Amino acid sequence: MPERSISVIIPALNEERTIAATVSASLKARGIAEVLVVDDKSTDRTVMLARRAGATVITSGIKGKGASMQDGLAAAKGDIIVFVDADIKNFSTGIIDAVTQPLLEDRCDFVKSAYGRKSGRVTELLCKPLLAELFPSLLSFKQPLSGIIAGKKKFFMKANFENDYGVDVGILIDMVNAGARVMEVDVGYIAHKMKAWRQLGGMAQEVARSIIKRASITNKVVQNGIVAEASLIGGMLAKGPEVAFPMEKVAFLDIDGTVLKDRFIYSFARAKGFTDDLVSAVSSSADPYARTRSIASLMRGFSRDDVTFFARHMPFSRGAGRLIANLRRHGYLTVLMSDGYESVAYEVAELVHADRVIANRLHWNSGLCTGAIDINPLYLPSAEGCTHHPVCKLTAAMRFCRMHSVDFEKTFAIGDSDNDRCLLRFANVSYAYLPASDEVASAAKYVINDLADVKVF
Ligand SMILES: [Mg+2]
Ligand SMILES: [Zn+2]
Repeated sequence: MPERSISVIIPALNEERTIAATVSASLKARGIAEVLVVDDKSTDRTVMLARRAGATVITSGIKGKGASMQDGLAAAKGDIIVFVDADIKNFSTGIIDAVTQPLLEDRCDFVKSAYGRKSGRVTELLCKPLLAELFPSLLSFKQPLSGIIAGKKKFFMKANFENDYGVDVGILIDMVNAGARVMEVDVGYIAHKMKAWRQLGGMAQEVARSIIKRASITNKVVQNGIVAEASLIGGMLAKGPEVAFPMEKVAFLDIDGTVLKDRFIYSFARAKGFTDDLVSAVSSSADPYARTRSIASLMRGFSRDDVTFFARHMPFSRGAGRLIANLRRHGYLTVLMSDGYESVAYEVAELVHADRVIANRLHWNSGLCTGAIDINPLYLPSAEGCTHHPVCKLTAAMRFCRMHSVDFEKTFAIGDSDNDRCLLRFANVSYAYLPASDEVASAAKYVINDLADVKVF
C-alpha cells in the first residue's frame, strides 16, 4: 500500500470557543500531515487560538463556507482530505480516525459521516424527500448534510462547491456522479451548535437549490417540473439572478482603475492625509511582498467601518455595473481581482453584483486595522501559473479555473495596469482599459477607453 498523507481542513468563522480543541484533536489523528484552518474574516480570537493550537491558518479569499473549503483544498498537501466543522463541542481524534480508515485501506474514495443522533429538521423535512424524488440511490445515507467528510483529493477536485449550506449534499451527489466509491461511517454522537428556527428556511432553500441544480444537469426531471417544485419548496426563484451551472466561463475584472475609476489606496491616503507616506512605501522596495506589507502598515489604526464606508463611496468607471451585468447574462462568473484589500473588494462586489472576490486581507483587532496583511494564497507562485512574478493575477486566475474545472480557454479579463499584464496576455478574451503603459496595451487583445466598447459573447 502506498504511503498516504492526510490534510485536515477546518473552515472557521468566529469559533473561538471550539477551534483550539478541534485543532488539537485533529493533530493527534493517524497519518496527519497538516491541519489547515481557513479563516473567513473572523473578528474574534479564532485565528490566534487556531495558530496556538498548532494549525496552519490561511485566509479565505472569498466569503462563504464552500469557498473556504476550496481555498483549503488548493493549499492542502495531503492526498487524503478531511473537512471538519469548527463548531463541534465534543470533537475527538476518533472522528478523524474513523472517517480516514476506509480511505487509508483503499476501501472507498469518499466518506460521509453519520452522527449517532436523530437527523436535523432540514434533513428530514426537505433533503430526504427531495432526494427520494431526484436521487433515490442516495436515500441510504442517514445524514446527507453532514459536514464531516473525507476523501481522496483527486475526487474533491472534480466536485462543485456550492458557497452555502448546499455544499455538503452537492459534494455527495458530485462524488457519486464522478464514480467515486462512497461509504457512510458512523462517528458517534456529535454536539453541533443548534440553529435557530428562523435560520432553517434559508438553509433549506440552499440545500434545495443544490440538489435541484444537479438533477437538472443530469436530466432527471423536466425543467418545468423543477421550477414548479422549487417555487413550492421555498420561493427559491425569488433570490435574484443565478449563475449558470455548471460554471463554464469566468470573467476576471481588475478593481482599482478599472471597475473603480480611481485606486482605493491613493484616494484613501489623500482623504486621510498620508499620501507622502504612501508614495515612499510604494517606492520602498522592488520586492512585492515587502511593498504590500509596507503599504498595509499605513492602514494601521483606521477602523473597518471607515474603510468600508470609504470604499462604498468611491466612484465607479462609467459602465462598470452594466459590463458586469452583461457578462453574467452571458454565463460568465464574475470575479473581482485586486492586489488591494478584501474589505474594499467585498463592498465593490456587492454594489456591482459581482460573484466573487480575490484580494488580500488586512488584519483587524476590535474593529481597527493592525497594519498587518495576508497575501491571498491564490496569488502565490505555483508550477502552473506565472513564472516571472512572485505575486501574479495570472497565477490566481489559473488556480481559480482549475479549482472550478473551468477551461482557461474560456476566460475573459480586463485591467489597466502592469499587474494585469500577464493575465491579459493569457486570457482568451482580454481588454486593456485606459492602459497605464504601452506594455499593458500590447498585452491585451483589445484596447478601449470606454467600458461600453467591450463586446461580450
Ligand atoms: Mg488596476
Ligand atoms: Zn505574472
